[in-house]
Order: sequence, then structure tokens, then C-alpha cells
Amino acid sequence: MATITLPEAGIQESKKTATKYVYSFGGGKADGHGKMKDDLGGKGAGLAEMTNAGLPVPPGFTIQTEACREFMRSGGVSKEVDRQTEEALATLEALQGQKLGTGENPLLVSVRSGAKFSMPGMMDTILNLGLNDKSVESLAKRSNNPRFAADSYRRLIQMFGNVVLEIPKRAFDEVFDAKKKQKKTHLDTDLDAKALKEVIEEYKKVVKKHAKRDFPQDPHEQLVMARDAVFRSWQNDRAKHYRRINNIDDMLGTAVNVQAMVYGNLGETSGTGVGFTRNPATGAKEFYGEFLMNAQGEDVVSGVRTPVPILELQKIMPDVYNQLREITTRLEKHYKDMQDFEFTIQDGKLYMLQTRNGKRTGRAAVRVAIQMVDEGLISKEEAIFRVEPNQLYDFLVPRLDEKSTKVEVLATGLPASPGAAVGQIVFTAEDAVKKAGHDRKNPVILVRAETTPEDIQGMEVAAGILTSRGGMTSHAAVVTRGMGKCCVAGAGDIQVDERAGEMRVKGQVFREGDWLSLDGTSGRVIKGKLNTLEASSDDADLQKLMGWAEPFRKIGVRANADIPRDAIQAKTFGAEGIGLCRTEHMFFAEDRIPHMRTMILANNEKDRRIALKKLLPMQRADFIGLFKAMAGLPVTIRLLDPPLHEFLPKREELMVEIAVLEATKPRSSKLKELRTLLGRVEELHEFNPMLGHRGCRLGITYPEITEMQARAIFEAMVAVDKEGIKTHAEVMIPLISTVKEMANQGAIVRRVAEEVFKEKGRHVHYLVGTMIELPRACLVADEIAKEAEFFSFGTNDLTQTTFGFSRDDVNKVLPTYLAEGILKQDPFAAIDRDGVGELVRIGIERGRKTRPKLEVGICGEHGGDPSSVEFCHQVGMDYVSCSPFRVLTARLAAAQAGASDTLKLEGGRTK
Ligand code: ADP
Ligand code: MG
Ligand code: MG
Repeated sequence: MATITLPEAGIQESKKTATKYVYSFGGGKADGHGKMKDDLGGKGAGLAEMTNAGLPVPPGFTIQTEACREFMRSGGVSKEVDRQTEEALATLEALQGQKLGTGENPLLVSVRSGAKFSMPGMMDTILNLGLNDKSVESLAKRSNNPRFAADSYRRLIQMFGNVVLEIPKRAFDEVFDAKKKQKKTHLDTDLDAKALKEVIEEYKKVVKKHAKRDFPQDPHEQLVMARDAVFRSWQNDRAKHYRRINNIDDMLGTAVNVQAMVYGNLGETSGTGVGFTRNPATGAKEFYGEFLMNAQGEDVVSGVRTPVPILELQKIMPDVYNQLREITTRLEKHYKDMQDFEFTIQDGKLYMLQTRNGKRTGRAAVRVAIQMVDEGLISKEEAIFRVEPNQLYDFLVPRLDEKSTKVEVLATGLPASPGAAVGQIVFTAEDAVKKAGHDRKNPVILVRAETTPEDIQGMEVAAGILTSRGGMTSHAAVVTRGMGKCCVAGAGDIQVDERAGEMRVKGQVFREGDWLSLDGTSGRVIKGKLNTLEASSDDADLQKLMGWAEPFRKIGVRANADIPRDAIQAKTFGAEGIGLCRTEHMFFAEDRIPHMRTMILANNEKDRRIALKKLLPMQRADFIGLFKAMAGLPVTIRLLDPPLHEFLPKREELMVEIAVLEATKPRSSKLKELRTLLGRVEELHEFNPMLGHRGCRLGITYPEITEMQARAIFEAMVAVDKEGIKTHAEVMIPLISTVKEMANQGAIVRRVAEEVFKEKGRHVHYLVGTMIELPRACLVADEIAKEAEFFSFGTNDLTQTTFGFSRDDVNKVLPTYLAEGILKQDPFAAIDRDGVGELVRIGIERGRKTRPKLEVGICGEHGGDPSSVEFCHQVGMDYVSCSPFRVLTARLAAAQAGASDTLKLEGGRTK
């Protein structure tokens, strides 16, 4: 491995035109600035900006992302990158009056990755780079602190060994723990210089054994290796995975920050810490953070020692504390957003190491945005964009009441599934079931190292789940999100011993029956029994923010709801109608499915009509409930859509049942019945039911079904209307691909309407339209619009039929497609604008050519996805429809889309 090469002859000339790869900062000024996140990464841009603002930042330089892209393309960096790096290093050395890793006062640096978006999964920071067997001695002499020097060196070997030479952390931990044991100490700060020197020798052996080479003694070689390791880490699996789920472009690349070290581990007047300018969980305006004295780097967050709340710093070092407050307040004013900062104190002097806009919960986001408007930091229009629409989900789940008791955070894991849970600890699924009891009246928290499918029952009865291993896509995380249950996953500081029935954290032991509180929104694990606050969307801050946002919203928001309870819920979240009521869901109920089966099993129209007659009053009652709940708001009702066999027992199960009866009771009437049933199930069997006898094809082959449903709708409307409650129905024919299908079904609906109105002597207004979910329908939309009074894009099926992907099986292909970059995102989660979206655009355009006032909406899953909502706004839909719990999100997303347009017209007041 080469050291950094020296400038070659002739290079001086090309210098003017060459790319600027390296940006220095220090001595009160920086080559770059805060807006250069694309080039310098978030961290590098922040360091440059803080330097320019005259803040105490250790000097250094940033190698920009272009070098990383170069590295990706060719597996290395160009000579020019090396040259500029060497030049910047020389500048840094001159500024500091030190030389990297040599001399009486050796310069040491940190090497830090930093992409445009903060990204876990990339290379960890290397501190104290430049130390070797010789410079460690100089550092000891110079600082007059041999322990500090040895501690710094052992940290370097450990970090460099792990992140650059890819030696497992464990290999070093074993050595360190053995040494602590041998010296009978608990804290690493208790190991003296001699012990640490022994550790260093052992560490070097670890390196030799695992990496088959010596720890590099040449500081320049260390630097080149560390830089390249940062670039390599951009491509590691964890980083790729993170980018995929967060839709970050693989081609951005990361920058590398090389920065002079400051030492938090010099003794009791030194330390290191992290903090926020406001509380990131609640948004309260309070200084928030933690620090440790005599510590370096990640000690604060690693859990090796328990950090101290930042307010304590005020007592220990009031001047430093005040300076830190003053600086961070300034930073917040400068960036006009809550800051998340990192600092180090060296011998009583404060240094800033990082600042960025802090991540926060949805509640905190809303609160901070409102406060900043009140403080005059941002405008109301800017505030609207400070909240991620998806984060509003936080308002819809219960949360912990942190005022009721003292809050002791035991650990912080991943916020795997939002909400709050308070309960008694259990360690196995069986105990969860046992202890939770009937009606789950004893709340339990299931604590596992990780969960497996066998734990499902226990997970179902538990109030919340806590795991010590696993990420956001671990079994526990995925399953609980599906259940809408609170989960904190991967809380690595917690040791779970299922066999012993105990959990250890922060030196405390917890056993079955102890109380625990989980905050699935922030990932915190809290000791004891806190109260919970029920969810509600009538939070004053939320209402205020929505009040600013909503005037910008151009498109309506409706909800997908099949039953009155969901409809009422959706209305409280602000739904302006029902965009999709799936009538088949009404038939799955236990008391109805027998009638449905009789209807399907009938092999002639007469018998079918008899069965349908039984279903009519039930269906009518459902509609009455919905119309009353919505009181005049539009209710879009889709006629029967799924393949009929979904209502029948499975063919295989029937065959087994028949075989058993044949062997045991060959003469029973039940057997005869089952044989008939099997015969009909086999008749109805389809190889590809999603493309089969479903949608309007049902109503066309069995017109009496459409008749019955239409009758139920109109009778319900008339009945509700008689009570003086307004109704507004939109009857939706599913899966239309030709105008003749639409004409056929539309005629039945209109005929039945007239019949009912005549019978009841009352007339109500309604629309007949269609769900557009086949590519052909988009292309002949001008034809279809002659018969259809509205379109609702069913983008789930439209995505299925456009890609030819089955939604239920796409997961067999999707992960590979995403990993290979064949697809950028899951087209069922966010609308595929280029393909499916283009069909939607064509459908709207052609439909409105025939019927300029054609009402257009969307009712697929996409209706609740912020980026898809933006798309719906852009293509001129009248409304989106989504599940009740997405209504708030859709409202804000639609308002943001509207505000972007308006503000752009007014001269770009927003981002
Ligand atoms: P992350 O991206 O994980 O936040 P950082 O690059 O910010 O990683 O580094 C983590 C920690 O390393 C910092 O919070 C700081 O404590 C320490 N660190 C980084 N650079 C220096 C430096 N030049 N001097 C002292 N400590 C440093
Ligand atoms: Mg990191
Ligand atoms: Mg950091």
C-alpha cells in the first residue's frame, strides 16, 4: 500500500482546470460552506459553516464526494486526489505547527465519513490517527500524561483494526475485558498506563493474527488506508440497504473529513458530549443532551459508561456550559432549525465537532415548527414543510405520560413500531399468554433477544415487544408494525437471558413481573410503570399547523372505509367522504357468509335470486349506517369485485374432509353436501383468479348481483333521506376495460334507481362511475367517460396489471430488483410515475376530453403515500382516498403540494 504520492512535474499547470477535490477549513475560514452538502456531505458542510462563523472547530479538510464516485468507478482515486490531499495536509500541519504522527508534538487526526444524508451503516469514525509506537511516546511526554497517550493509541488500533482491516470488534473486546478482569476493575478509566500498554501489545497481536499484517506504523499509510476504507464503506451491504429503504441515490457517494484531534480523554477537565437545542421527543424548548468527563468519541453513546445529563455540565464547568449554550443557540438561529450537535472539551476549552438539523418525532416536529414561527425564526409557510407527512402518524398512537413519574431511560433501541406500551416483563411467548390472561387485562411486555414466528401468540397478547437484537426489518419490527403494536427493537445495551429469566441493563437486573414502559416512537426503554395518554388528533399544536397548511390544499381527501365505525373515525381525522367502500367486506361476516355461499353455489338464476334476497336487507342496513355517518358527504361504493371462490372453502381442505367422511361415515348426508360443494368449487376454480371471473365480469354474467346491490344502495339512500339526512352516493363499477361493460352495468344501476325512486316516491341524486384499474381503460378513457360520471384510479390493480407483477408475490422479486437498482422503489408503495403514473395521466386527459367535469380520484394504497399524493395533485385529481389512519398524512402531503405550487408562483419562498 502506497503512501500519498508527491506532486509530479507538470501537474502544477493543470491545477487551474482540475476538479477541486479537497476543501480545507481552519484558522477562521473554510474553502467551502454550509450549502455544499452535495460535495462536502452534511458533516463537512457543517464543519465549514461553523468555521466560517468563527466557532471553535478543530481545523482539517474534507475530501469531497466526487472522489468517492471516482473510487466507485475505478476502484481507486486519481493521483490528483492524492496530490490535493497531501497539499491540504501540509496546510493543516503548517496551521497547527505539527507534523502528522511525527516529531515532539505529533499531529493526530480523526477520519470521519459523511454523506449528504446522515446514514448509519457507513464507516465508523477513526480517532487518533497518526499514532504509532514512536509518536505515542512523544504524546505521553508532551501531555505529561502517559495513560492518556496509551489510551489513545489502543483506541486507534482498535478502531483502525475494526473499520479498516475489518477485524471483528469482539476480538479486541475480549482482550480488553480480560485485562479489566485481570486488574479487577470495572471501568476502562481504571486501567492505568501500564495496563493499557499491555493491551496495546495484545491488540497488535490481534491485528497480526486476523489481518495477516502488522498494524501500519507509517501515519501517511494509515491516512490513505482510512480514506479508502470510508469510500469502500459507501458500498457495504448495510449502507446499501439503508439507502434503499430511504430512497437515497447510490451514486451520491460520501465525503471524508480529516480533522485535527482534540482530546476529551485528557483527564477530569476534559470530556465529550452530544446534545440537541430542543427536546427531540417532545419538541419542548429545553437544552437536551448527555456528556462524559475524561472520555473520547463514542463513549457517550456506546453505553460503556453511563453518561450524565447535560445540565450537570453547568455545575462542573459553568463557563464551558454557557459558551456551549450560546454557540448552539446561535447555530439554531443560523440554520433556523433545531440542531443536533457534538462537542469535546479539552482541558477546559470547548470545541464543536458537528452540527446538523436534528431528527425528531412527529409531535416534536409539529411543536418545534410552531414555536419557531412564534419566535420569528421561520414563516408559517416554512413551518408547513418542517413536518414530514408520514410523521403525523405519531398523533394517532398512544404515548407515554412523562409528567406523571420520574423517567429513567434504561436504553434506547430502534423505534421499530410507534406507540407506547406499559406492562410487566415476560421472557417467553407462553408466559406472555399465561400472564396476560383473559381479555389481556394484565398488560405484559414480551422481552426477547429476538422474536421468531413461534412467538406470534405471545406477541399478539403482549402490550408491547422489546428485543435486544435486530433492526427495523427484523421479525419483531415487521410483525408488530403489521399488528399496530408498539415495539422497540435492537436495544443492544440490554442483555436478555431468557433461560435465567432476567434482563440486565445499566448494571440493574430485571425479572419477570417487573414493570417496563416502552416508547416505540423514540425507541426508549423506560424503567417502571408510566401512565399512557390515548391518541387524539385534536391536539392543539397539530390543529394549528394544519390550520396553516390546509388553505393551500387543492385536492380533497377521502377515506377507504367499509363500515360505519371506520367512516366515523376517518371523519374525525378530517376525511371529506368515503373514496372506497368495498362491499364484499360486508359479506365476510360470520352470519352472512352462509347466504353468500348459497348464492354462489346456486347454479341457476332463480336460486341465486332467492339467496340474494336474504342478503339485500343486510347490505341495505350497512349502507344506511354509512350514509348516516357521512351525512351528505360523498360515499363511493364499489360493487362486488373479488373472485367468487374467495367466499368458498379451500378445495384441498374440502377434499381432506370428504376423504375422512368417506372412510368413517360413507352414508352421511353431510358427505353428499360436501361433494356438491367440491364440485362447484372446482367449477369456480381459476388458474389466475386476479385476472379471472371478477370485477364487472361478475355483474355482467350474474346481473342479479348488480341489481341487488344497486337496490340496497338506493333503498338505503331513500330511507336516510326520509329522515332528513342528506346522502351522496357514487356507485362504482370495478375492473372496466371497455365502454360496453360500463354501459351494461350502468344501465342496470340506473334502471334499478328509477324503480326504487318510483316505488318509494322519492328521488335522490347519485353518480355512476368506474374504477380505472386496467391499462386498456386508461387508453380508451375517452370512450368510457361517455358512460362513466367519475373515475377512481385503483392503482393497486393498475400497478399489478401494468407491470404484470402479482402484488401478493412481488416480494420474491422485489428485493433483488431494488438491490440491483432495476427498480428504485416498490411500485406498490409509491406510484411509479413513469409507467403507471403516465397511464393515469393519459386516463385523466382522455376522460376529461369527453367529459370536462369528470370527477377523478384515486383509491389505491398510494392515496396515503406523500409522494404519490403530490403526484395526484400534479395530474389534477379532485381527491385522494386512503385508509383512515393515513388521512392526516394525506391532508398534509396535499397541502404541501399545493403550497409548493403557490409559493413557486409567488417567487419561490420555500426550498
Ligand atoms: P458520526 O457520523 O457517527 O456522528 P463522527 O464523525 O461525528 O461520527 O464521530 C463520532 C465522534 O468522534 C464525535 O462525536 C466525536 O466525539 C469524535 N470525534 C470526531 N472527530 C474528532 C476530533 N477531531 N477530535 C475529537 N473527537 C472527535
Ligand atoms: Mg457513525
Ligand atoms: Mg457525529
